Amino acid sequence: TTSTSDTKKYVIATDTTFKPFEFENDKGERVGIDIDLLAAIAADQGFEYELKAVGFDAALGEVTSGQSDGMIAGMSITDVRKETFDFSDPYFDSGVVMAVSANDNTIKAYSDLAGKKVAVKNGTEGATFAESIKAQYGFETVSFPDSSNMYEDVKAGNSAALFEDYPVVGDAIASGVPLKIIGEMEKGSSYGFAVKKGQNAELIKMFNAGLANVKASGKYQEILDTYIQK
Ligand code: GLN
Repeated sequence: TTSTSDTKKYVIATDTTFKPFEFENDKGERVGIDIDLLAAIAADQGFEYELKAVGFDAALGEVTSGQSDGMIAGMSITDVRKETFDFSDPYFDSGVVMAVSANDNTIKAYSDLAGKKVAVKNGTEGATFAESIKAQYGFETVSFPDSSNMYEDVKAGNSAALFEDYPVVGDAIASGVPLKIIGEMEKGSSYGFAVKKGQNAELIKMFNAGLANVKASGKYQEILDTYIQK
């Protein structure tokens, strides 16, 4: 948290690559639904911020340790997280899916994962879900700090499958990453902007007010249309 004159500049943490929510475009600019939404809300509410793209797990740590004031990172609103974070209103509905290598024809259900490795991303809902079923289906999890490394491990054949948010793995597949989704989406959860529990309440208030305004103005839909192929 830095203060210049009397204007507070919030530090907001985000993931590194979580396309279409946050990623670097061809010009090396950080863009995506989360990034553009935060910019639109800040402009609407008149607050200043600095983005810190540190990775998902690191962003959780940034906020809980007070190094960042808030985070926007395709972060699922969960009951467990509500013990340590305060969330904004939900801004996007999502959920976890299993994906395997595009040329794999052996994994058709969770039961086919027996004795295999499954790639997950540290601290995520996908990881929590995989952990919750691994004893039942007899697989082992391997953790990665980001989605790209998780995809690579499955492409290389080290891990038989991965668990990731549907819109993100769907975007990767549409962009040519050789993966395919198996089965149905697991328990959905919605994304929210978060602050440390009991801190920066005004930031949550402004985010919610700004979210309502950008939805009403059509700006929110315009941002989704920019990043989600119909
Ligand atoms: N939605 C997932 C979660 O909150 C993943 C977020 C991410 O990887 N950026 O755990």
